[in-house]
Amino acid sequence: MNSASMEVSKGADRDFYIYSRHFNPTVLNLGRQIAAMEGTEAAYCTASGMSAIASVLLQLCSSGDHIVASSCLYGGTHALLSHFFLRACSISTTFVDIDDLQSVQSAITGSTKVLYFEAMSNPTLTVADIPALVQIGHENGLTVVVDNTFSPLLLSPARMGADVVVHSVSKYISGQSDIIAGAVCAPARLVSEMMGLQQGSLMLLGPTMCPTVAFNISGRLPHLALRMREHCHRALIFATRMQSLGLKVIYPGLDDHPQHRLLKSMANEGYGFGGIVSVDLETTAKANKLMHHLQNLSRFGLMAVSLGYYETLMSCSGSSTSSEMTKEEQQSAGISPGLLRMSVGYTGSVEQRWRQLFDALVALNLVAEGSHWKDRE
Ligand SMILES: *Cc1c(COP(=O)(O)O)cnc(C)c1O
Repeated sequence: MNSASMEVSKGADRDFYIYSRHFNPTVLNLGRQIAAMEGTEAAYCTASGMSAIASVLLQLCSSGDHIVASSCLYGGTHALLSHFFLRACSISTTFVDIDDLQSVQSAITGSTKVLYFEAMSNPTLTVADIPALVQIGHENGLTVVVDNTFSPLLLSPARMGADVVVHSVSKYISGQSDIIAGAVCAPARLVSEMMGLQQGSLMLLGPTMCPTVAFNISGRLPHLALRMREHCHRALIFATRMQSLGLKVIYPGLDDHPQHRLLKSMANEGYGFGGIVSVDLETTAKANKLMHHLQNLSRFGLMAVSLGYYETLMSCSGSSTSSEMTKEEQQSAGISPGLLRMSVGYTGSVEQRWRQLFDALVALNLVAEGSHWKDRE
């Protein structure tokens, strides 16, 4: 394969394909589907969510550059920014409270290239004010990169001005917890840069998507909307009922969630407020007890760190998905040791599932016997 023949294959539309790390028709097709979903000019698919995040940031930043990022991030992303980038390529990051627009502004320096945050963050379900953050980013000449893993279809960050949207396709988009995959949705220019033969992070580091994975995901995207609606519908019911029983529930669909109105103002019609509900049970022991009961006695769901599966998945974030963070970092990100995250599934009927959950809460004395729940008015 000589470089002249590789040059011929440049560009989004091509008549032939040379080698699938560069371009593959099935992977390109999935990229078009995902770009259409997010409203970006182009998208390219990666081997994992982490590789989507790492490749796009390595394309946008060089040694000595700086990133301003939310302090509440997926554990792997947090470790990548706070440790790996700093050691491997001297790209430094300042973590800020993304709700505090003033602190976002103040963290920007002359070497800042990227503003990075999650549209809905893991696991405290903080919702980012995307239009306001885009404005700050653009006024300072930054590229705004948003991880939309928790809210596909529900939120469209690029339609609110974000430059790049990244996904862990392994979660809702896959829907089956069987595939590890990712996507970078971006302007065509940036996607071609990432595929460049001399300086392209995706091309040269090599985490492009396997075509059989792309084939699988292409067949699941058409029913993502149906799945998201049902995840969100059930999450709102469970969150409302658990809160009415006196539990400390964190869910953006509840009126007392700090970004409830913000989310309403940004969300696409008909998708509700997300499929993840967190319940703060205060101690790890209580959270573990409830998870064990629900999985092993009630057969309500499964203990697993992933999300977006058709069954409910439960994890204690502090000791699982956010365990890359120190106790102090967890505390400042609002992750209590008893925070139980539920990715609400859609098998069985709503009432059958609720009965299992309610009975477990009563059996473990987390709510008093004879308690009554209320639905939303
Ligand atoms: C899972 C996840 C990632 C990492 O994705 P992988 O596909 O596991 O590499 C990144 N961001 C968020 C929000 C995630 O939930």
